[in-house]
Order: sequence, then structure tokens, then C-alpha cells
Amino acid sequence: MPAAPNSPHENRRLAAVHKVRLLGTPAEERFDRITRLARRIFGVPMACIDIVGEKLAWLKSVQGFDGVEGLRKDSYCHYTVLDKDVCVIRDAREDVRVSDSALAHNWVFYAGVPLLFDGEHVGVLCIGDNTPRDFGTDEMDSLADLAAMANHELQVVALSESQVALALSNEELEMKARIDVLTHLWNRLAIRELLDAELAQPGTSSVAVLMIDVDYFKAINDKQGHAAGDQVLRTVAERLRAGARAMDAVGRYGGEEFLMVLSGVDEDEAVRVGERVREQVARTAIQFDEQGIAVTCSIGVAVAAGTTDADALIRRADDALYRAKAAGRNRVEIERAQGGSRN
Ligand code: GH3
Ligand code: MG
Ligand code: MG
Repeated sequence: MPAAPNSPHENRRLAAVHKVRLLGTPAEERFDRITRLARRIFGVPMACIDIVGEKLAWLKSVQGFDGVEGLRKDSYCHYTVLDKDVCVIRDAREDVRVSDSALAHNWVFYAGVPLLFDGEHVGVLCIGDNTPRDFGTDEMDSLADLAAMANHELQVVALSESQVALALSNEELEMKARIDVLTHLWNRLAIRELLDAELAQPGTSSVAVLMIDVDYFKAINDKQGHAAGDQVLRTVAERLRAGARAMDAVGRYGGEEFLMVLSGVDEDEAVRVGERVREQVARTAIQFDEQGIAVTCSIGVAVAAGTTDADALIRRADDALYRAKAAGRNRVEIERAQGGSRN
């Protein structure tokens, strides 16, 4: 693929990218809902929001394919950040700009609109299909409308400070090391680091953890297959983000186990968030290959109450989770700080 030139004022563009503070951060519901809409409106299998850094195209929100980042020089989005308006590739296999790209056979059709911050093109909202397509003015206008919604979100930093700091602590090319590729949540290493960071702050008594485990997940894998299991994990992750508050940290802790770190909550508020998350997960069956798969999760909650020992806190949440499972699953239990009353 011929190397596209950089923007003529690349330094100014990169300064704006840094100000947005989204490189290296996990998926967030406020962007996911825009890519979900894009996919539905245009009836395409793929949609994403990229933040285009110096070397990476960071996939902030992704629908329909796996991945967390691509090298900027290999991505179509590289062309879009140079364009003034919509960049359309009707058939990548016949487009001189991208025909020899490794993507050209899967991502045949592409349409992308640059995202703006401080007047600079910091990223792209794009859709893709595996067959060629025409893209009319009405469709371009609709994509531009969705991009305007994404631009609005760029003005806000919703994640907690500790999450932004963790994301930006890595070199650009190493940012992926903290994100779980399947679910676009923080991975186990990162969510543990975030818990330690929260517990090290003054006022640790208001830090809560939610240990969340998908119920009877092995049966889903066994009956519907591993690919269905993976789709369930992706969707559960999306629903956890939707049920959490915008600033909460959500991580994949193990196979079908997730850990959420909340701050500024007491025990009752932590249980309320847990209930909301549980309801989100159980809300509707998850669609896979025309089948609906009913999914629930069990949740164990513990609030730090002055301790700075992350292992002890996780152990308490695990104990509560065990009780939620034993009591029949699809429920939230709390291990209260004084070891007394239970929910
Ligand atoms: P429970 O209600 O008690 O939690 O039962 P469970 O079946 O959910 O729990 P169990 O620990 O027996 O099964 C977890 C399964 O998750 C086993 C493992 O093969 C599967 N698993 C782990 N990681 C992945 C993954 O990345 N993708 C898929 N599809 N399956 C996974
Ligand atoms: Mg399970
Ligand atoms: Mg488990």
C-alpha cells in the first residue's frame, strides 16, 4: 500500500489527539451506541470509531470485527484524517490507494468521516462491508450526522482519572498490552493496577469491587459452540459498560469473569450498580446465528472500608459471588465490611 502523506500540520493534529485523552483507553458505552447505530442504519457488518495517533489507529469502539489497534500506515482511516469530508472506497480491491492492503479482501467497501477536536482531524467514524457498495449523498449526510454525535462525545472525558493515567502511561505501540482484545475491556493486569491505584488514594473506604461471573457459561460453549461463547462474552462486556456508571473501570478478569472497580460509593450504592448491571445482562437474549441465547450473571460485591489490601477485597467479593451462585444464580450478594448483615 503506498504510504499516504501525513497531514501538513501533523504536530498540531497530534497535540489535539493528546488533548482528547482516548488513546489506549477501553471501549465506552457512549461511543459504542454510535457505532451500533451506524451498523444498523447502513445495514453493514462493520463500524468503528478510531483515534488516529502518531503510529496507531486506536479502535475506540468496534462492531463486527476483532482488534484493538492497527498500524496507522496500514489503515484506510489514515486517508480519511487527510480528507475534508467523507472518504469513500467503493471497492478496495480496485482502489489504487488501498488495493494491496491486507484488509482489501475483507473490508471491500469503506466510508469514513473525520472526527474533529480543536479544529483538527483526531480520528474517524467509519463503516465497512465485505462487498462493494455505492454510497449516495443521503447516506453521506447520515454518516456525517453520526460523526457530529461522536465529536460531541470527544469534548468530554468520562473515564476516571486513574483510567486515563493508566492508558497514557504506555508508549503508543504498547497500549494494547492493557486491553482485552475480545471484549475491549481492561484486561486482568490493567484492572488490578487500577484497583491498586484507587485503593492508594485517600478515602479508600468508598472503593467497591464487583466480581461478575456468567452463569452456566460452559453449557453455552458446549451446546452452541465456542464462537457463540465468544459472542456472548462480547455482548456481556457491552452490557456491563451500559450498566456501569461512565467513570467506572470494567475489566475482564478471567475467561467468563469480570471485575468492576467503583469509587465514591457506599455499600448500598455499590449493590444498586450491581443490580443494574445484572438486569442489563439478563435483559434480552443474545443473538447469534439467528438463535437467541438467554444469559444471566451472578455478582459478588465488597466495599473497601478502609483496607488497602486488594487481594483481601477481591476475596470478599469472591465469597459474595459464591453465595450468589449457591442461592440460585442471576443475583447480587454483598459481603459487608463488618462481616455482619448480608444482602
Ligand atoms: P457457573 O454458573 O457455576 O459459573 O458455571 P460455568 O459453566 O459458567 O463455569 P465454568 O467455570 O465451569 O465454565 C467456564 C467456561 O468458560 C469454561 C471455559 O472453557 C470457558 N471459557 C473461558 N474462556 C473462554 C473464551 O475466551 N471463550 C469461550 N468461548 N469460552 C471460554
Ligand atoms: Mg460461570
Ligand atoms: Mg467462572
